[in-house]
Amino acid sequence: MIRLHDVSKEYPRSGVALSGVTFEVRKGEFVFLTGPSGSGKSTILKFLYMDDKPTTGKVWVNGVGSDTAKGREISQLRRRIGIVFQDFRLLEDRTAEANVRFALEVTGAPKASIRSKVSRVLTQVGLSSKATSYPRELSGGEQQRVAIARALINDPFVLIADEPTGNLDERATRGVFQLLRDVNAAGTAVVMATHDLDLVRRSSYRTIELNHGRLVFDSAEAGRPRPPGGFAEIEEGDEQPPESAGY
Ligand code: ADP
Repeated sequence: MIRLHDVSKEYPRSGVALSGVTFEVRKGEFVFLTGPSGSGKSTILKFLYMDDKPTTGKVWVNGVGSDTAKGREISQLRRRIGIVFQDFRLLEDRTAEANVRFALEVTGAPKASIRSKVSRVLTQVGLSSKATSYPRELSGGEQQRVAIARALINDPFVLIADEPTGNLDERATRGVFQLLRDVNAAGTAVVMATHDLDLVRRSSYRTIELNHGRLVFDSAEAGRPRPPGGFAEIEEGDEQPPESAGY
């Protein structure tokens, strides 16, 4: 479904952002992308959304190749990909409902189906009672739920989440993460970049760790969960069993 093969990215001024990264994401999988700031997580997510291309190597997303994809093919692909960001990126002058509806209207969806779809996704994220609230009237967690509803409106095969809990307190983080788990349980793949090692440790999802643009750990390759405390920090002979899945 998603495949990166020997992908590197070099920016003219800041130099090498990614180097020789190879991995696949299967249909319906949940994958954490972890690693320190500047390690290349967002660059990978941009490739998945075909917002940028690798300098060398190739990315395939649902059969679309980064080297040959054309504008029209890319816009069609993006309709099938949901994306959420740390800073929510909602339209401040529109209600929750209108933010979600807008994502559907720009695709030219038939009017008759719009109302029921919007209502369905707002219910799915637990926000049907806040449909007419503006972003400023919502908590951070609620705003992120609206952003997730917007991302789900076109039934994506994958949800890309770039630090989705980065602006949230612990309680809202748990709620939003549980929502992402539910989305995944319903069949949508999730690729989530996060700094929050607590979330990573408390769940048993696949973890890919980057450092200085290199893939340094992939729990699917290693055949074992990511070690508590982080791959980079662990000392030889210090390995502990993973904590059981939380919440
Ligand atoms: P992360 O998401 O892990 O914080 P990024 O993928 O944002 O990492 O960045 C990886 C590296 O690429 C960093 O050194 C960053 O400065 C550089 N970088 C990212 N985007 C750009 C850009 N548009 N132009 C130049 N350099 C960039």
